[in-house]
Amino acid sequence: MRIFKLFLPLLFLLGAAGCLPAQTEPAGDPALEGPSQEQPAQDRDVYPEVKKVPPQKRVKEIEGLVRLADFDAGFIFDLKYATEDNFMGRIFYPAAVAVLKKETAERLLQANAIFRSDGYSIKIWDAYRPLSVQRVFWQACPDSRFVSNPDPLPPAGGWKARHYNGMSVDLTLVDATGCELQMPTAFDDFSEKAAPDYPGMSDEARRYVQYLQRVMESAGFAPISTEWWHFNDAQGTPTPYLDIPLEDFLE
Ligand SMILES: [Zn+2]
Repeated sequence: MRIFKLFLPLLFLLGAAGCLPAQTEPAGDPALEGPSQEQPAQDRDVYPEVKKVPPQKRVKEIEGLVRLADFDAGFIFDLKYATEDNFMGRIFYPAAVAVLKKETAERLLQANAIFRSDGYSIKIWDAYRPLSVQRVFWQACPDSRFVSNPDPLPPAGGWKARHYNGMSVDLTLVDATGCELQMPTAFDDFSEKAAPDYPGMSDEARRYVQYLQRVMESAGFAPISTEWWHFNDAQGTPTPYLDIPLEDFLE
């Protein structure tokens, strides 16, 4: 199994967005927000040591998986596993490319259209995750509340919506300036505080996480009880698990 070693520190990453990690002032009730300002296309996935998706005019598709960036310029990408800013502190993805099953991507596009009409936008933290990377995660954190256990051999059936078939996505919301809304925790906070119904969160975080769930559910996604940022495609038929390298989506 390939394990990607650290190459160079990413010194400026956290400052790149030019805002605090979480918004401190309430932005009003999201459900009551007026028409949005058009969110400019932003290129925030600037990781100098990791290959990026070149500009494309067509949708790259491999075994039913597609690149999200080909669908819509309104998504913002901060792919944590293409950086050292993750629970393992090392780069897992040699390519900063967000990939989902096509039908799941189309549902996410629907959700983002709703968020954008309210003045927000989806920021993607993780999407399709090759099975070999999932096995590394499970070795590092064998806790099924936070990391799903990949079978040693991909099963011949009985699949579920998972990152490793491109039917799960990790995300948060940003406002029109690109600043993340206040949510219960940071990404990959493997504690009870990451539960979307954790009683100790702030009122603002509760309001935003409930708004996030409401819109995602309306687009066909299901939340999970342990991680507020994780959503499964609840409408698509689960397909086989895959181990296609992310680099294959760069061409
Ligand atoms: Zn997830």
